[in-house]
Amino acid sequence: MDIHEYQAKEILARFGVPVPCGGLAYSPEQASYRCTEIGGSAWVVKAQVHTGGRGAAGGVRLCHSDYAVQEAANGMFGRRLVTRQSGPRGRLIYRVYVEEAIDIARELYFSIVLDRRIERVVIIASAEGGVEIEELAAAKPEALMRTTIDPAAGFLEFQAREIAFALDLQPAQIAEAGRIFRRAYRAFRDLDATLLEINPLVVTGTGGIVALDAKMSFDDNALFRHLDISELRDRSQEDARESHAADRGLAYVGLDGDIGCMINGAGLAMATMDMIKIAGGEPANFLDIGGGASPQRVLKAFRAVLRDTGVKAMLINIFAGVNRCDWVAEGIMTAFTEIDVKIPVVVRLAGTHVEQGRRLLRDSGLPIITADTLAEAAYKAVAVVGTVGASA
Ligand code: GDP
Ligand code: MN
Repeated sequence: MDIHEYQAKEILARFGVPVPCGGLAYSPEQASYRCTEIGGSAWVVKAQVHTGGRGAAGGVRLCHSDYAVQEAANGMFGRRLVTRQSGPRGRLIYRVYVEEAIDIARELYFSIVLDRRIERVVIIASAEGGVEIEELAAAKPEALMRTTIDPAAGFLEFQAREIAFALDLQPAQIAEAGRIFRRAYRAFRDLDATLLEINPLVVTGTGGIVALDAKMSFDDNALFRHLDISELRDRSQEDARESHAADRGLAYVGLDGDIGCMINGAGLAMATMDMIKIAGGEPANFLDIGGGASPQRVLKAFRAVLRDTGVKAMLINIFAGVNRCDWVAEGIMTAFTEIDVKIPVVVRLAGTHVEQGRRLLRDSGLPIITADTLAEAAYKAVAVVGTVGASA
């Protein structure tokens, strides 16, 4: 689960990491009022959306009067901010964060991530912050410093100091930077985060160190023990298709293609998506309905896939082991009676009770396109959407 920048900063501040003084606003008037509260003569208005790359997309504006703050906020509210990271749908802006402008001397990069490959928490730091980490990693991988944390020993003081040295900080700043790194790590560890990114971490004109931006994501499976964190969930920032599916216990991931997928088993789902791509098409989603899927579950999955208005055809691929093809067939037939299915549906059934399942579909008289193999199903789905002149 992701949270907003201002929420991540509140958490960091609680753990002793310095952040700029700021206030949240739900309207342009409130944004300009924040200037008086914060004081000073320059402010930054920042769109609160669950995506990075806001600066380059007009979601971060430096202002020199409360009127300019109000105007900047006015231009943001109600808009969907599309950034390089947000995907084409963008994210709705309905709150902005107003902060005192900071006099920046240097922009650094600092993040804590879970490296699943080595099964360790890794700290990534760079003296060249402010730019997107993916860009930096591609253009100048040597500018990134990686520190692996041993889970038994934790993040040790000498490691924090090493990072501070690598960032070319002044001797007087090393101890303070080390403390900040370790406090950030404590926030990450205590709250079961999967990501904490401070980009940029800045050195100010007067030599202070401040987290100018903050991004945090949390392990969904640990949210039950952090109720205060799970309350920060903002559904307006989530993919509507995914929240609908998640509420119904379906393992669904929204994608940008037009072939809706309903498959049992995560591995088969991935193989099917690969096959759609090989056939020249684009999957609209990943959806694993799981083993032992009842007709009711198939119906739910149908609804979840069809909620995506971009879906032009549907591919159902079931390899029944625990599951039964006749149950799935019943679910498909129920879906056709309960939902007005306007798009072509390709079905491939294999495994337990496959003959019964196929017979049910055949006798149903429904306009279902059947296939015997995964490849055949994928090519037929692609052909029917007409994305490419596929055959097979
Ligand atoms: P992101 O683009 O979504 O990552 O948003 P950031 O919060 O990182 O802001 C983008 C950039 O705006 C930063 O890298 C800074 O260069 C600039 N910026 C943000 N806040 C301030 C500020 O208080 N003062 C100054 N001078 N620049 C700022
Ligand atoms: Mn940033």
